[in-house]
Amino acid sequence: MDLGTTRMTPQRRAVLDVLAASDDHPTAAEVLERVRRLMPGVGAATVYRTLALVVQSGECAQLRISEEGTTRYDRTVRRHDHLVCTECGRVDDVQIALDTRVLHEAAKPSSFSITSYDVHIQGRCAMCAAEDRHNPGGN
Ligand SMILES: [Zn+2]
Ligand SMILES: [Zn+2]
Repeated sequence: MDLGTTRMTPQRRAVLDVLAASDDHPTAAEVLERVRRLMPGVGAATVYRTLALVVQSGECAQLRISEEGTTRYDRTVRRHDHLVCTECGRVDDVQIALDTRVLHEAAKPSSFSITSYDVHIQGRCAMCAAEDRHNPGGN
């Protein structure tokens, strides 16, 4: 198979459509489930291969949340940061206006050249925080 091809197969169209409609950083399994709503019976291997291709072509970004270890897929390919809820696993996009000079200063002692960065802020999303207020002290 020619990995360099940008031929628009129906599977590729479906994967791109699913990603464009997903603002929740779905996992590969979630993308598969959603693609199957559009194309019942599509093979898992086909969807996973297509996902790898759209990442390779820069149409989608991969996101790894260190503590869960699974790869998620991100429709937003421009540089951005993430708010990660440690309770329900929700991941939201956020743009942090970080002064990149601070990053270069921090990397300097290691002679490290920065090519990209993204900040993951961990905490609780509004929904989880609200739930806590309704059940003080938890269960
Ligand atoms: Zn949450
Ligand atoms: Zn994102």
